[in-house]
Amino acid sequence: MKRILVSGGNGFLGSCLVHRAIREGSEITVVDDLSTSQGMNIPSSVKFVNEKVEYFKTNEKFDYVVHLAARPSPEDYVLHPIDTLLSNSLGTRNMLEIALNSRCVFMYTSSSEVYGEASVIPTPEDYYGYVNPNGKRSCYDEGKRFSEALIMAYQREYHIDTRIQRPFNVYGPGIRADGGYGRVIPRFIVSALRGEDIVIYGDGKQTRSFLYIDDWLEITWKLLTLPNLGGEVINIGSSVEIGIYKLAEIIKSMTDSESRIVFRKAREDDPRRRAADIKKAERIFNWKPVITLEEGLGRTIQWFRGRNL
Ligand code: UDP
Repeated sequence: MKRILVSGGNGFLGSCLVHRAIREGSEITVVDDLSTSQGMNIPSSVKFVNEKVEYFKTNEKFDYVVHLAARPSPEDYVLHPIDTLLSNSLGTRNMLEIALNSRCVFMYTSSSEVYGEASVIPTPEDYYGYVNPNGKRSCYDEGKRFSEALIMAYQREYHIDTRIQRPFNVYGPGIRADGGYGRVIPRFIVSALRGEDIVIYGDGKQTRSFLYIDDWLEITWKLLTLPNLGGEVINIGSSVEIGIYKLAEIIKSMTDSESRIVFRKAREDDPRRRAADIKKAERIFNWKPVITLEEGLGRTIQWFRGRNL
């Protein structure tokens, strides 16, 4: 039985990974301060520690250490910039030390945000990024970039087996829609289902590429558990770019909604375009997303319809 430590294991991505790990027969410890998740999303059989990742202490040995704890939603992290930076600097160091003590595999969930305002679209892993180092988004972007640098330093100096993934806008059932925690897809779905205005920040011509949660989970499990991947950095996303206005129209039509699409001021440093070059993931893992945006949206809309909105 493999022992896995997951920081942020009660969040959207983390809890999906935890459920998969349980199905694979692993023994899981989750450390999570519940700062961005709603309720408990993991079974009570999981050892749960309610603690900030930077302060978590353990002498236990693990086979895998996974560092996911972060505040991923822009509207939320700009309100908590220090917390955002610490979980992805001191927190990353803490999790690396635990992995070093166990001499085990360390996997980090970085972000497509490390590319910032990318000039190469779809963006490959070897694009260095164009990031405002002290703007509002820097707490997230630079935390992720610092963490990548620290992880590679541990890998080079202590020869631990580290794996870095950069997810691009993962969505699906279970994702939060409320307040500052809500990312664009769940927000648009809930607004559309309620018949409320669908709010676009900026002109709606900015783009993203979206990845359905099951596709993320499939490759993430491989990245974590397959041998000989130490030092790899992998984009996990879709190369299909879609404009935010177009996304709003699709969701409005799929939900038969009467909502109006309205425009508000653009967010500061909001990347204009984002899409993943996934050739590396295809080559190494023989992986491609299999759920189309329409399919994934359909399942997510279904899930939200079943909730008390
Ligand atoms: N967005 C929007 N309306 C919303 C939420 C987001 O127009 O209610 C836009 C946002 O400005 C960005 C894109 O949708 O261009 C994706 O935003 P999200 O918060 O999902 O995360 P990001 O990809 O920026 O990290």
